[in-house]
Parts: sequence; C-alpha cells; structure tokens
Amino acid sequence: MPFYPVLLCKACGSQPSWLPFPSPDETTQRKVPWPRDGKPRHFVCPRCSRGCEYSAEDCHWLHVGSPDQVLPSKPLAVYRISFPCDKERCAGLMHIQALMTEGLPRQAFLHVLFRAYLINISCERGHVRSGPWRGNGPIEVQQDSNWDLQCLQRLTA
Ligand SMILES: [Zn+2]
Ligand SMILES: [Zn+2]
Repeated sequence: MPFYPVLLCKACGSQPSWLPFPSPDETTQRKVPWPRDGKPRHFVCPRCSRGCEYSAEDCHWLHVGSPDQVLPSKPLAVYRISFPCDKERCAGLMHIQALMTEGLPRQAFLHVLFRAYLINISCERGHVRSGPWRGNGPIEVQQDSNWDLQCLQRLTA
C-alpha cells in the first residue's frame, strides 16, 4: 500500500504539493522528505496563493491505490523565490518556495510572487510580515537544490 508525502495548505486545506522524495525505499519507510538542514520552508499554495511556513512535521501521508496515480506527467521541482525584505533599511532577504513544472519562464515565478499573500513569513533578519509583498529590488529564482530531484505530480486536479 503506497503512501506518499503531501503538504496540506494551512490556509485553504487543499493539497498543494506532493513532496519530492529521494527513493522508493524511503517512501516505504515513511521518512519525511525534508531538506537535511531541517529548517522550515515557506510554501505558496497553488490554489489560494497563501504563503505559510511549513516544517517536516507538517508532512502528511496520503494513501494512493497505485504508484501510477502519482507518476508525474511533467517533471516538477521545488523552486526558491528570493526577494528583499520590504522593511525599511533591512538588507535581509525573504524566501518562498513553490512546487512548479520545470522549465517555466521567469515570468511564471514572478507571477507566483506578485499573487502571493504571505502569512507570518519572516526575512533572514527576523522581520515577520503578512500580506502581499510591496517591495522592490532584485528577485532571484533558483531551483532549490536542498530537495531531491524526484518530484511527484499532484494527484488531484
Ligand atoms: Zn491554499
Ligand atoms: Zn527584514
């Protein structure tokens, strides 16, 4: 009976993302596929655009009838979108994560950021903020290499 790791959106309760996991063995052992540093990550829900903080304890295990149901039709990856904190004179960055199809244009990630509604997201220096990002400055997008490559397509549409 295969179980697969998911994060349930803290704001709308939908299933935003299947978490990537390193190997089928680890799936059966139900080892949470979280980056080794164990730090929380700010995931943006693809349905409601709320960005909340998640940690390994937020991982849920969902039973699926067959692994075919969750095989990705397109490769997915965890991306990290980094942007300057909009608190005055703060030089820290804020980071949010999005699980997205590989190879999308930069515009797609900017769209995620501009639509996002952050909920208690903190910058590197500890400023906590909620609401849409109103700052400006350089926005960086990179594939988050702290997650293993294998990702799964969402089961439900
Ligand atoms: Zn949501
Ligand atoms: Zn700050």
